[in-house]
Amino acid sequence: MKSDDERVSEGAMKIPRLTPGSGLQPYAPPHRWDDWREYDPAAWPRRVEKRYSLVPTICFNCEAACGLLAYVDQETMQIRKFEGNPMHPASRGRNCAKGPATINQINDPERILYPLKRTGKRGGGEWARVTWDEVLDDLGGRIRKAFLENRRNEVMYHVGRPGHERTMDRILKAWGIDGHNSHTNVCSGAARLGYALWSGFDRPSPDHANARFILLLSAHLESGHYFNPHAQRIIEGKQRGAKLAVLDPRLSNTASMADLWLPTYPGSEAAVLLAMANVLLDENLADLAFVERWTNWREFLIDRRPADRRPADGRPVDRPEADGSSDGRHLDESPTFEAFVSALREEYARYTPAFAEAESGVPAAKIVEVARLIGAARGAFASHVWRGAASGNLGGWQVARALQLLTVLSGSVGTEGGTSPHGWNKYKPFFWKEPPGQKQWNELLFPKEWPLSHYEMSFLLPHLIKDGRGKLDTYFTRVYNPVWTNPDGATWMEVLSDQSLVGMHAALTPTWSETAAFADYVLPMGHSGERHDIQSQETQSGKWVSFRQPVLRAARERLGEKFQFTYEANPGEVWEEDEFWIELSWRIDPDGALGIRQWFESPYEPGAKLTVQDYYRWIFENAVPGLPATAARENLTPLEYMRRYGAFLIESDVHGLESKRVEVSATAETDPVTGIVREAGKAVGVEVDGQVVAGWPTPSKKLEIYSRTLTEWGWGEQALPEYIESHVSRRSMDLSKGEMVLLPTFRLPTLIHTRSGNAKYLNEISHRNPLWVHTHDAERLGIRTGDLVRVTTEIGYFVNHAWVTESIAPGVVACSHHLGRWRLHDREGSRWSSVPVSFEKQSDGTVLLRQTGAVGPFESSDPDSSRIWWSDGGVHQNLAFPVHPDPISGMHCWHQKVVVRISGPEDRYGDVRVDPAKSMEVYRAWKDRCKPGPGPGGLRRPLWLDRPLRPAEEMFRG
Ligand code: SF4
Repeated sequence: MKSDDERVSEGAMKIPRLTPGSGLQPYAPPHRWDDWREYDPAAWPRRVEKRYSLVPTICFNCEAACGLLAYVDQETMQIRKFEGNPMHPASRGRNCAKGPATINQINDPERILYPLKRTGKRGGGEWARVTWDEVLDDLGGRIRKAFLENRRNEVMYHVGRPGHERTMDRILKAWGIDGHNSHTNVCSGAARLGYALWSGFDRPSPDHANARFILLLSAHLESGHYFNPHAQRIIEGKQRGAKLAVLDPRLSNTASMADLWLPTYPGSEAAVLLAMANVLLDENLADLAFVERWTNWREFLIDRRPADRRPADGRPVDRPEADGSSDGRHLDESPTFEAFVSALREEYARYTPAFAEAESGVPAAKIVEVARLIGAARGAFASHVWRGAASGNLGGWQVARALQLLTVLSGSVGTEGGTSPHGWNKYKPFFWKEPPGQKQWNELLFPKEWPLSHYEMSFLLPHLIKDGRGKLDTYFTRVYNPVWTNPDGATWMEVLSDQSLVGMHAALTPTWSETAAFADYVLPMGHSGERHDIQSQETQSGKWVSFRQPVLRAARERLGEKFQFTYEANPGEVWEEDEFWIELSWRIDPDGALGIRQWFESPYEPGAKLTVQDYYRWIFENAVPGLPATAARENLTPLEYMRRYGAFLIESDVHGLESKRVEVSATAETDPVTGIVREAGKAVGVEVDGQVVAGWPTPSKKLEIYSRTLTEWGWGEQALPEYIESHVSRRSMDLSKGEMVLLPTFRLPTLIHTRSGNAKYLNEISHRNPLWVHTHDAERLGIRTGDLVRVTTEIGYFVNHAWVTESIAPGVVACSHHLGRWRLHDREGSRWSSVPVSFEKQSDGTVLLRQTGAVGPFESSDPDSSRIWWSDGGVHQNLAFPVHPDPISGMHCWHQKVVVRISGPEDRYGDVRVDPAKSMEVYRAWKDRCKPGPGPGGLRRPLWLDRPLRPAEEMFRG
């Protein structure tokens, strides 16, 4: 029986209409998923009925984890199509173009179906088919040897698109290695650090649907973070009357839907946000009661006290210890909140709207207008930055700090319609047995120069190796294509080609990639719909879990078939990672003597090998609140429930968790200065308004408007949200040389970084990425749309066509990073998207990547491949970028200072030329900006800041 709310929501299309017998329905109702019938569109105008088993799974084509529903033909037991899963709480049956295109990836006639082993030299393009057993024995033997020889840090797993909530964490800890590497520092590392310094949570979770005002520093409606689920809720918020503002130098599709577009000059965003903060303070629009209650303003006042009033050891009076306890000395006068507000006003007075206008090019009046709208939205201001300005600029992490300052000043943290921390809305599983933190610290991942780097210095891996900082015995890349995705791909190719630096490279990948071409093994892994996985994301003010499953295996198991491994049901021998890692772990430690095997044994049958069935069964039975009871109401086990519906909403409307009361015993002690409450020496809460509440996972248990951590680690001038001048600021441009800023970070809504290469629908829609040039600049440079232009960077150049437009700020050029796929050898790239290239060293020491062909029709089992009508594959640009590691966050700062001119006679479309020696020079110059650790107490990094694959605590101490 549906509630009134559900009926209203169905009517308003907020949730799918699933009521049986209610006329035309947009989705197949779940009670008919075992035997769904519909007419075959290919047989039209005849009415030919087809029968399907509908099996839910999760899209893997971006991080949003939308639900998909596979239509498995009951006659052929093949997947006919993917549509949205109406039972998924975040995507609610809707997908972007990339979701349904999963069918292309699965049916691609060129996909890798069997494990391959290199036969010639690495990168030489020669491969032979091998068995999974050979692969596992070889890799297992190598890794075992490395472990026995205490070379644990020479084994590394490097992931591009994650998933697998906590699974890899568990596996790598079970192996006892500090070997997790990710793509995060070319993606979101900067914004994450900015958020983490505020609250201990490194991502925001805006409640767009209930907001009164929304401010985005990204392209959420077309391609941004949690694209489809967020986009749905932004539009819902707008339908309810919320106003939307977008800061973006580019008139993105999102900016075109905004009430206010602020085309900021790249790198000026923090100045604009701080000017808004200034207006909020100046016009008394800030929620000061919230700031007083929930920020660590006292610490700010204590630490800024004059030096002559400090004790002889130089420490400030009454300064709390790093763990938040005070040292027992008391202030001779209480710091007052009024004094703090005056100091804050004084601090931000210099960020006037006029100053921000001069930095950004956005009229001061518009900045004031947005600030007043934020003030008026008090308590319901939703905001988000993820990549965009944070990932493009030196100091981009302060963009996130500045944006969160607005959220705090408007009293919108954790409120309905406000912005919560991601941890409130994202589910994470736990396991029956948790391996301890590894007793290793890998300097190739967290080198001493970047002690505050929020994630691994992943994009510097080849540079660090070339610098002699370490080497790799066995290197796994998983759905990761650094040669093409990262800056300075030439250095990646150089290091991956050298077996003395990388002993063995196994590429776990569902598709060919520029990096897989430099592997020793290419191991085909499943697309979504071909493997198991759990995923959850902070898409709304609720918490949900979703289940990715191999749909052919699941459909056949519904009919009573049994499988040992998923590859028995998948096309070819496409395997799934879970089973691969379990098998590999048993081969590394066959008799259990290394202590590894124990973690890969069944929780239900001691000593027996863990199966995917048992792994997910245990999690769903024990680690998802509310799921067992819900499943029982339908006479299903929790695993059966998840196999049937694919997702479960754990809770909705999650707000205000910082104020949750904490029960403490009579022996609990409250620090008189900080208010932190401790039991047995451990901080368990904080006293606010006379109550002990949970607070925030920071040293102060408050929102840290002032970061003592930054002060202690040598960056005191950045301890408040500040504006750091970008490496591409207007001031740094030499206009006499024609310098401009290149914005290379924007996405196309229809493409994925690497995995859309074999999605024919998507490549037909998007296959070129011209350079956006403003009309004024085009006139100045004599450029017209379609002209070939050379874009010169610090280490080389690329050649592309120009697109003259007013949808970009003057002085800025932009090029989407999604195109320009290439292949060095035939059979090593998808011909739907990639072009053949040569990559040759030139007499001057530079290397030149040159297109030697085009995209075009080819013969295959798919007749569509002979109908390819486009020839363009776009232009690759990342090879021409040196690395720019931010000295604090560690993030690669993507924006480039460039010179644009009409190309010369020697230039060809798609040329990329780079000087690898110069790229190492640029790397070293940026490295020199760092303040290396160790920090206070000999720490490698602050203990309270989390890090991926967190090691044992003693490893933080070196
Ligand atoms: S937004 Fe699109 S690509 Fe991303 S998970 Fe959803 S359907 Fe897939």
